[in-house]
Amino acid sequence: MWDALYSRALERAKDALPRTKGVLLAYNTNVDAIKYLNPRDLEDRIEKAGKDEVFRYSEELPEKITEIPHLLGGILWSIRHGKAAELFVESCPVRFYMKRWGWDELRMGGQVGIMANLLGGVYGIPVIAHVPQISKLQASLFKDGPIYVPKADGGELRFIHPREFNGDEENLTHYIYEFPRGFEVFGIKAPRENRFIGSADDYNPNLYIRPEFRENFEKIAERTELAIISGLQALTRENYAEPFEEVERHLDILNEKGIPVHLEFAFTPDETVRKKLVEILGKFTSVGLNEVELASVVEVLGEKELARQLIAHDPVDPIAVVKAMERLAEITGVRRIHFHTYGYYLALTSYTGEHVRDSLLFAALAAAAKAKLGDVRNLDDVDKALDVPVNEKARDVERRLKEEFGLKKGIAKLDAGQLSFVPTKIVAKPKSTVGIGDTISSSAFVSEFALRA
Ligand code: ADP
Repeated sequence: MWDALYSRALERAKDALPRTKGVLLAYNTNVDAIKYLNPRDLEDRIEKAGKDEVFRYSEELPEKITEIPHLLGGILWSIRHGKAAELFVESCPVRFYMKRWGWDELRMGGQVGIMANLLGGVYGIPVIAHVPQISKLQASLFKDGPIYVPKADGGELRFIHPREFNGDEENLTHYIYEFPRGFEVFGIKAPRENRFIGSADDYNPNLYIRPEFRENFEKIAERTELAIISGLQALTRENYAEPFEEVERHLDILNEKGIPVHLEFAFTPDETVRKKLVEILGKFTSVGLNEVELASVVEVLGEKELARQLIAHDPVDPIAVVKAMERLAEITGVRRIHFHTYGYYLALTSYTGEHVRDSLLFAALAAAAKAKLGDVRNLDDVDKALDVPVNEKARDVERRLKEEFGLKKGIAKLDAGQLSFVPTKIVAKPKSTVGIGDTISSSAFVSEFALRA
């Protein structure tokens, strides 16, 4: 049954997507500089910087990076635990050190940048992107296609491709230090592959909003029919107040114009900011999150036990997910919640229709195509995911949803609205999984509205 539903959803989505008139994407775009670590090189650097000091920080992460041992200690911490970590690099000399250390690959970074390249560059949908700093390098990472940034020339607002902007602004570089499983330095062995990120970026962490967007948001909004907001995750209790005010002003304008807005919820470590996000969630039409993010939201709602359940099982217990989504919808009034995890997606919507499930199927194909090919070049590339097998473990998840909610063909009626479920296609040896969450959420949101008619 799922194979047939997948094929039909893909045909429908491919037909419908070009009808989307414009998507606004705000706020975070940056450059990702990826370095594949070499054990001998790293050991040399640690020796030079002072082994004792570096080891101290590899046991307890510093709050931010102000000297070289912080950077190397942070990298070692990630290796030791096999966990990802990201720290802000405050010091210019350390930034210069990272620049000289170099990179193996440069990639588009930030949710806005990634989604602009997917929606505009691959699906051919016109997008307007907020790019906090437009440097030559940043602009060069945008694909060809209907991707626009606003430029204020005198009193006139023009919409041009980022490369035509001819910007000479700063590079906001996130240095990503990657290591494979088993990577070893000084007898410390990585239990799994992962990465450490040092971000040399003074703009995105403060949610800097460009003057073109502050001064002309109404005009920008008029050119779009959907909006996706992301990049609020790095804010802290010290700096969130002012940007939140501007974001809320933008949300009010979008709501007034009846433009559906999606929040792409990345993990937000600061609890005050997370609480604030939940408080304003009702101003969004839709939110997208994974199990860790959903657990962190449920936790600030005071549901500690439910939060625990969400991360206790593999695959994630779908009954706990539905409970969490219902709570979130009830408290915030958000009309669409899209949950994704390894193996399946669920959506809870206050409205009904098969198009909700079909958009999830399309998103799963886009995700699998990305995992399989590394980069999706056009909509026809998404076809290549049709032969990726449907996740076996999701059968049990589906069975439980059938028992509990009477799910049929991935759809069930709940008191809170419609529940849609799809088992995803999992690529056994993925070429790349960076930005896959952004691919899933933006593909589902945009295709759902395109399929609505
Ligand atoms: P990220 O922030 O790295 O994008 P997310 O947790 O937001 O991480 O998204 C990861 C999602 O990607 C998972 O929920 C899963 O649905 C999907 N995914 C991960 N690996 C694969 C794979 N090999 N094939 C298909 N989908 C995958």
